[in-house]
Amino acid sequence: MKSFIEYASNSDFPIENLPYGVFTSPKNADKHIGVAIGDYILDLNVVSHLFNGPLLKDKQNVFKEDKLNAFMALTKPHWVEARNTLQSLLDVSNTTLQNDSELRQRAFVKQSEAQMHLPAEVGDYTDFYSSIHHATNVGIMFRSKENALMPNWKYIPVGYHGRSSSIVVSGTPIRRPYGQTLPVEGAEPHFGPCRLMDFELEMGCFVGGPPTALGQRVTAKDAEEHLFGFVLLNDWSARDIQKWEYVPLGPFTAKNLGSSISPWVVTVEALRRFAIDNYPQEPAPFAYLKHEDKFNFDIKLEVDLKPESTSKVTTICRSNYKFLYWTVKQQLAQQTVTGCNLRPGDMLGSGTISGDTPDSYGSMLELAWKGTKPLRLLNGEERKFLQDGDTVTLRGYCVSEDGVRIGFGKCEGKLLPAIPFEE
Ligand code: MN
Repeated sequence: MKSFIEYASNSDFPIENLPYGVFTSPKNADKHIGVAIGDYILDLNVVSHLFNGPLLKDKQNVFKEDKLNAFMALTKPHWVEARNTLQSLLDVSNTTLQNDSELRQRAFVKQSEAQMHLPAEVGDYTDFYSSIHHATNVGIMFRSKENALMPNWKYIPVGYHGRSSSIVVSGTPIRRPYGQTLPVEGAEPHFGPCRLMDFELEMGCFVGGPPTALGQRVTAKDAEEHLFGFVLLNDWSARDIQKWEYVPLGPFTAKNLGSSISPWVVTVEALRRFAIDNYPQEPAPFAYLKHEDKFNFDIKLEVDLKPESTSKVTTICRSNYKFLYWTVKQQLAQQTVTGCNLRPGDMLGSGTISGDTPDSYGSMLELAWKGTKPLRLLNGEERKFLQDGDTVTLRGYCVSEDGVRIGFGKCEGKLLPAIPFEE
């Protein structure tokens, strides 16, 4: 495949990718839906009349929206038709855009001149805990090696209901929160700024398809028609607040201070060629969680840390999406097993994605092992947890055996100092 839009061979956004996002630009102050191609964005608001396939010709209005929810609410065959239409329009042999300079002028925007926004209105957000290495590491630190994994962990894709109001797009700064902590075990709790601020390397999956009815289950076998696409997700975490508050109902304010996502939603269709064997599961999961097809993906994930005082960026983690024990199909089946209804735009967080080596751990908690093994950064500084002014950047990309590379762009956020609390 080759597009008439030229891009470098290591571009995150070749014609095989075509992720969807929402942007504004000097050409247009209103939010438009676009598709990334090389260093450009194809404005789908401007070319909505070109979606002339049998399924989309009466649905062109979804491309005139200021968010992706209406497009997500269509069906998988609609998404496939949209992708085919876009690949055809952008193909080097297609003259529709190439020969219409007026339309081409309006339809393409440089990414460097655009501002990205949240791609969809996130209705509900669930965060899972699906990396076996992460769950084991945290279990060892907070309990013991002998019972690192709780007895339920290999039976249930464990998760909690998160907060969607504080999901923000990459580039949005995050404030160090205030909260209650218990600095000394057995002593009185303390109220003040979080002292153990952390990131979590995750991926989010956007739910698509028509809303389901309350009471309707979706099994893992049927999950695919409800899965639209993926983004990078940094689930910022206040570890000291988390430790004091999480008993007995789980994470609460330690996680609701802000969760950052990358702006481009990479579709399941684009990821298909990177599917690999699912993580072996023993014991075998219950029937509602079973699916035979491969729905694990070889997505290389990296985390960069840049202190405020330096331009030197240190890559502190190299992990991979493939380390997840539970697939997102199984997560969706767990979400809905009680009959909980789905709405397009809901998001499922993977949980921190840690690999099996210390440099692949997806949080400061694990990388610096609860503060006992400080990380040394390229500028000579050390880190046990995040400091004010630190910028955390997640990146993700896939490379196939035949050399096709698709990427997720980046998910970036800078940690700002806490706002002093006035009594
Ligand atoms: Mn998380």
